[in-house]
Amino acid sequence: MLRKGGTDAYNDIPQVRIAEGLSNPCRHCLQLIGEGEKKLVLAYMPFDTKQPYAETGPIFLHQQECGHYNSDIFPPWFMFLEPAIIRGYDDENWIVYETGAVISGSDIEKKCMTIFQNKDVEFVHIRSKYNCFQCKVERA
Ligand SMILES: [Zn+2]
Repeated sequence: MLRKGGTDAYNDIPQVRIAEGLSNPCRHCLQLIGEGEKKLVLAYMPFDTKQPYAETGPIFLHQQECGHYNSDIFPPWFMFLEPAIIRGYDDENWIVYETGAVISGSDIEKKCMTIFQNKDVEFVHIRSKYNCFQCKVERA
């Protein structure tokens, strides 16, 4: 949709830019967009409906079609999220406050396991320090 003229969380057409540097993760395939490749820059709200805890932030996507990431392990570059923002959400998509933390990328897996010990948590979101949504982690 977004690659074919669909609009983002603010009802705007995604902007097309050339990826520069090595920090251009695609939110769909969770691979890094190569330097010089075209990327879409847009506002993304990773929730189905608006509500007070439905944060919106900037993300990148490959301009070209790519496959959706679906794995039990995090992509290796998550190690380089310095820092990463992590928090759990309940079954109403509200933040479970005591789960929120700013951590080193190398601690993401361990922190996810800790957060999921809280039975109020339905899923976890990981964001960058720029509030760019990285991924949703669901219970196994
Ligand atoms: Zn991609």
